Amino acid sequence: MSELTGGCACGAVRYRLRSGPMFVNCCHCSDCQRQVGSAFVINAIIEEDRIELQSGEIAPTTMPTDSGRPHDVYRCAACGTTLWSDYGRRPFRFVRATTLDDRAALKPDAHIFTRSKLPWVQLPDDQPAFDVFYDLESQWTPEARARRRAALGKPRSAGRP
Ligand SMILES: [Zn+2]
Ligand SMILES: [Zn+2]
Repeated sequence: MSELTGGCACGAVRYRLRSGPMFVNCCHCSDCQRQVGSAFVINAIIEEDRIELQSGEIAPTTMPTDSGRPHDVYRCAACGTTLWSDYGRRPFRFVRATTLDDRAALKPDAHIFTRSKLPWVQLPDDQPAFDVFYDLESQWTPEARARRRAALGKPRSAGRP
């Protein structure tokens, strides 16, 4: 895999992922559609300590959710581009995969919440799709699940993001 570097629209924020993600969700839920103003969002799930912020300042925003689960979105403080988010204060980030310099570098591993998919979006045959969500044990690779377990076992870093 080539270097996974990315940044915001104004160029102030630059980041690098220290490894590939554990899993890539393409989410078609109505919250994501509204927040990104598009048909879906592509989220690369990675441990927070594998995101290396190289420049710029990140500003968190807490988003309202239907579920009541916290959803914090992290944006460039200068231009407001969303770079990643987290749900539930766990040691993971959902990196907006199209903020990578190579926007096609990370292919979705699964399409989720397709019950609210826009009717004219056609999903590819070779990517699994789920009305709501999937069973993590059956979709994530053993390596990804091991990384997830290892991250959950670690105490959270004090500073956020
Ligand atoms: Zn910016
Ligand atoms: Zn969503």
